[in-house]
Amino acid sequence: MSKYWTPLASSLEPYVPGEQPKDKTYIKLNTNENPYPPSPKALEAMKEAANADLRLYPDPTCEELVQAAANYYGLSPKQTFAGNGSDELLAFAFAAFFDPARPVLFPDITYSFYKVYAKLCGITPKLIPLDEQFQVPIDQFAGDHGGMILPNPNAPTAILIPLDQVRKLLEANPDRVVIIDEAYIDFGGESAVKLVPEYPNLLVIQTLSKSRSLAGLRVGLAFGSEELIDGLNRIKNSFNSYTMDRLALRGAVAALQDEAYFQETTAKVVATRDGIIASLKELGFIVTDSKANFLLISHPSYSAADLFKQLREQGILVRYFNSPRIDNYLRVTVGTDEEMAQFLKVLKRLIGA
Ligand SMILES: *Cc1c(COP(=O)(O)O)cnc(C)c1O
Repeated sequence: MSKYWTPLASSLEPYVPGEQPKDKTYIKLNTNENPYPPSPKALEAMKEAANADLRLYPDPTCEELVQAAANYYGLSPKQTFAGNGSDELLAFAFAAFFDPARPVLFPDITYSFYKVYAKLCGITPKLIPLDEQFQVPIDQFAGDHGGMILPNPNAPTAILIPLDQVRKLLEANPDRVVIIDEAYIDFGGESAVKLVPEYPNLLVIQTLSKSRSLAGLRVGLAFGSEELIDGLNRIKNSFNSYTMDRLALRGAVAALQDEAYFQETTAKVVATRDGIIASLKELGFIVTDSKANFLLISHPSYSAADLFKQLREQGILVRYFNSPRIDNYLRVTVGTDEEMAQFLKVLKRLIGA
């Protein structure tokens, strides 16, 4: 606490990002980064963009990137928005669309940043419990509320909500904005972007951080009806008109245009994931049906908190959340085949298998 802080600053409970340790080299399976490098074409585009034009401000409308993202999904640029990481887009969307006079709905087990944005925007969350199998109870996302947000696949459960269920959410809540956070959709899900022309209350948020290996660049995209995109622009231009720098704009366009590389690297992550799921089940682990680039795992006979510590000592970082219902689970990012082989080897030793 500080006497210089506003009541708002004092009241916040900031998000704690997964660690990026510098003490030694770990096999890093803790922040859902992609194990493969970004598209070589994206790197090349950024090198070219590192030129004298950096003395000039970037394009505040991010026109080239918005057009590329719109083309990718067959939408209009008026239905498309780009920003500095999807975390920034989420903050804008909370401020633009969620009514502070009513509770905003999200699952009890979900991306922990949502609570933080809610607090920042003076919004009261209403947590809807996932069922015993961590499935989203779609019918309970209804009633008198100020809007809702769900990641799809959910994090950290990795479980996908099928598109017909997303459609149900949109139809049951026509007067409220439904945000679908698709940070992991490219690893086996069907995107709700194709529903944008049908549902004016749908906002889909995506990121280049996971499936396009660009977490370090900070690029997020949003897709929705023209009125929702206008709403995001109102908040953005009341906060920071130049959210995206020249290098990020060029790199993101080149990444979106390199479809072959994107398909190849996401397919590799999916293949590795499906292999490791089978191996973990053989060791007696409970593993959710992951459609993301990470796994949520638990062993009936071993404490997740202990395994987390022991893995760390052995040079393998995973994520442990000391939160209700998932405090005996580990979230494990899917790395390369070599990294996952090492993870399995250490894990087998730890559980004496
Ligand atoms: C990683 C993640 C984000 C944030 O992505 P950035 O674009 O890197 O800010 C948003 N939502 C969920 C559910 C995530 O896991």
